[in-house]
Amino acid sequence: MRPFPSLFLSHGAPTLIMQDCPATRFLSGLGEATGRPSAIVCVSAHWEAPVAQINGAVRLNTIHDFYGFPAPLYEKRYDAPGDPGLAARLAEVLISAGIDAEIDSVRGIDHGAWVPLMLMYPAADIPVLQLSIGAGRDTAYHRDLGAALRTLRGEGVLIVGSGSATHNLRAFRGQPLDADPEPQAAGFQAWLADAVAGGRTEDLLGYREAHPAAAWNHPTEDHIMPLFAAMGAADDPRGTVLHQSVTHAVLAMDAYRFS
Ligand code: ZN
Repeated sequence: MRPFPSLFLSHGAPTLIMQDCPATRFLSGLGEATGRPSAIVCVSAHWEAPVAQINGAVRLNTIHDFYGFPAPLYEKRYDAPGDPGLAARLAEVLISAGIDAEIDSVRGIDHGAWVPLMLMYPAADIPVLQLSIGAGRDTAYHRDLGAALRTLRGEGVLIVGSGSATHNLRAFRGQPLDADPEPQAAGFQAWLADAVAGGRTEDLLGYREAHPAAAWNHPTEDHIMPLFAAMGAADDPRGTVLHQSVTHAVLAMDAYRFS
């Protein structure tokens, strides 16, 4: 079996799931283009914890972890199966790599994971495990977290880092879906894609110093950290830029594949 890739996906605003735009059209075809994995391990920006958490429930409840959105969005469900056996093994893999990890047998699936997965694999019949990002942890920690997952790719497991290539929510307010990109967002988006395609690992790990608009685009680092996990899970530092677009002027929807 050829190892599955690891992907970095930008999940946009929760309303993405109800819209038609270049990003939703891209994600809708990505499941078929990637193939059917035996399981999906998703590192989502929306689960942050001091010690790495893995959800180990038999079935994952859909979490609607957002406020003030249209009512139909709260009816969307993606109650994917979990895989408690794989969760236990994942914890062992992380601990043997020197990363503390715990299993949470209650938590369900947040929108960082279910928005892209609902478009990619709408049947919700592939086991999903979520893995938290590290609260207060740096880019190297997340690269190492991804590196510990590398062997799973050879077993047919798809690794997904779900965040956002740019994520300035203060500038997001009130901007329509198809608003022209803010120059600050577009500049960082282009730099990031170029660094990924060129395999410039050191620039990426030091992104905050490497680009003048890095802090503007990521006032908090939660939405970029899943990129480093996806990157760390790969054998080749060079990624392929699968998709580029911008929603709401400031949310770049870029997606990268690593193998
Ligand atoms: Zn998000």
